[in-house]
Amino acid sequence: MSRDPRYDLLFEPLQLGPVVAKNRFYQVPHCNGGGYRDPSAAAAMRNIKAEGGWGVVFTEQVEMHHTSEITPFIELRLWDDNDIPMLARMADAIHEHDALAGIELTYPGVNAPNFYTREVPMAPTALPVRTFSNDPVQAKEMTLRDIENFRQWHRLAARRAKMAGFDVICLYGAHGFGVIQHFLSTVTNQRSDAYGGSLKNRSRLFRELVSDTKEEVGDTCAITVRLSLEETSVSGQLGFSNQELRELIDLHSDLPDAWDLAQGAWEDCSVTSRFAESGSQQSLVSGIRDLTSKPVIGVGRFTSPDMMVSQIKSGALDFIGCARPSIADPWLPRKVDEGRVEDIRECIGCNICITGDMTSSPSRCTQNPTFMEEWRRDWHPERIENKKSDSTVLVVGAGPAGLEAAMSLGRRGYEVTLAEKTNEVGGRINLESQLPGLSAWRRVRDYREYQINQLPSVSTFLESELDASQVLEFGFHHVVLATGSSWRRDGVARYHVTPIVSDNSVPVFTPDDLMNDRLPDGHRVVIYDDDHYYMGSVLAELLAGKGYQVVLITPSAYVAEWTLNTLEQTSIHNRLVNSGVDIQLNRAVASVKSGLVEHTCTYSGRSLEAEADALLIVASRESNRSLWDSLNAQQAQFEPAGIKSVSIIGDADAPAPIAWAVYAGHRYARELESATHDDGQLPFKRELVELAVI
Ligand code: ADP
Ligand code: SF4
Repeated sequence: MSRDPRYDLLFEPLQLGPVVAKNRFYQVPHCNGGGYRDPSAAAAMRNIKAEGGWGVVFTEQVEMHHTSEITPFIELRLWDDNDIPMLARMADAIHEHDALAGIELTYPGVNAPNFYTREVPMAPTALPVRTFSNDPVQAKEMTLRDIENFRQWHRLAARRAKMAGFDVICLYGAHGFGVIQHFLSTVTNQRSDAYGGSLKNRSRLFRELVSDTKEEVGDTCAITVRLSLEETSVSGQLGFSNQELRELIDLHSDLPDAWDLAQGAWEDCSVTSRFAESGSQQSLVSGIRDLTSKPVIGVGRFTSPDMMVSQIKSGALDFIGCARPSIADPWLPRKVDEGRVEDIRECIGCNICITGDMTSSPSRCTQNPTFMEEWRRDWHPERIENKKSDSTVLVVGAGPAGLEAAMSLGRRGYEVTLAEKTNEVGGRINLESQLPGLSAWRRVRDYREYQINQLPSVSTFLESELDASQVLEFGFHHVVLATGSSWRRDGVARYHVTPIVSDNSVPVFTPDDLMNDRLPDGHRVVIYDDDHYYMGSVLAELLAGKGYQVVLITPSAYVAEWTLNTLEQTSIHNRLVNSGVDIQLNRAVASVKSGLVEHTCTYSGRSLEAEADALLIVASRESNRSLWDSLNAQQAQFEPAGIKSVSIIGDADAPAPIAWAVYAGHRYARELESATHDDGQLPFKRELVELAVI
């Protein structure tokens, strides 16, 4: 198939300083949790994006000098010549498919605790470091001499970036992470010298750095700058406004080779679909392009080529910046080019990818299970090994795990039967995507359902709840159970590892009840959240929206604590407060007696009682393993029935977020009829540190 002419605009080349981008698909810098620890894995991941047609492919942030680093987060480094080969590997990997290789140079300044190097952090103004964990370290104010030194270090870093082979050098001043933003913002810059005060003064360093970098390497490299569209402080008095950004661009309109516009702090830019639609930065971007003759790059979790075209046609953007959409589908541009728009695996805006960076582990993606496994396991998002035999496979359960397994097995050419108990595929997605703010999660089901329908070797049977005797009777060669999980009613999770004591005087509900429209009578609901991800907060929002009086009790110091890793926690707390939910932190439900819910302080044990018409327990989930257990009880029948293997995957194996289930389905499909690794061999490659000669 060929490209729809509607999208031709996206494939028009564009000058970027001294280089030319072959199209308008611009993979903006994004973290991956691998960085300097997993450089070959990160290079392979970028290589596949270049292969997938992105015209420009960037690194994550690269700490450009050892006096500023953000341990424990793992990004890239360019501290001396020894770092060049690692970065050159990345640039080469990107060049292999004719994309421009971009590097984002960062001096994190007031964002850098320097735990690794033990250098004293430096910032425009002396303030405590601004990190996720409020580290007890302060940055000192940069003297004019420090600024002069820093400019020299920056020149050196630019030269090294060029030596590593990069075509585009981006100076990072967005998300609260780069020193340029720290100088621009009156939150972090309260200087009274030539670098503080007026916008002209606050932008002095920006001007100097761009000019220095151009002078050093601008003959062959494009020099871009990444700025936030606005930065607002809690008080609203300080920061860097959208109006000031416009003035800055007006003042220096043609200084950088492109303006790359991100937004606010990271959580404002990488906002989840629960809190913002695609293209939510539209009003902040619009009109900026008229202030400059240089290209404007912008982001907005764009996954639709129509929306991308309209961004360019309307004059808002020249390049379509994508981080998450390029993770969910590294081949997005190529699919548009080949007239396969319906094959795009759209990002669902869940921010599981970001949790990799936040936990210093290789990032996962809910939609793309091959992300960061390209090198480690040799998984390509669009290619999979052909089947090893003519074996048939039965997949039981069509949730994310079963759907991914059936689709990927079908792509390998296996004859697959997918049996689902209910009258639709999707499993937990069907229920959860009905909850407030989670409708984009439907894409996990929709993408796989559509792909499976294109695969002649996969047959789906709905309303087919299978028991062990049927499975044995059918005689498939391989059977994989993806039968999911159910929320526990007894409160067992982290705080309570045995059931909560109850006299049953308050009716207990689970998320499954609510998602299946079984709502409490009465109006006072206590929610007990010992799960700590999104579910408790989403159900609080749901119930408050229906007029219930909601008290949310959690043993954690935060509502939805794990969403600190998806950058949603602040928005969640804010939304619940505004919905009238009474939030009780550091408390655990202790018992239910005589119509009262007793809850205690997790520190002192002091207890209080709440009157409630219902208790909603969001604790842990139990795997649905009855079919697994009854099959295993009849193992002797496997061979006579022609069954070679029976496996269990996803939530049925061990409950976890959706990304884990998709991954389990994919891994099962990849590894069917391959080595089992039961011999203890490592199932993936690692990059090991080369020991120094001592
Ligand atoms: P996961 O996240 O692991 O994919 P889900 O709970 O989303 O798990 O999906 C499990 C699916 O399995 C559900 O759609 C459920 O209806 C289906 N299922 C459970 N038991 C059976 C069974 N015995 N036969 C067929 N389908 C089943
Ligand atoms: Fe999008 Fe979620 Fe994948 Fe991140 S993890 S790219 S937000 S689908």
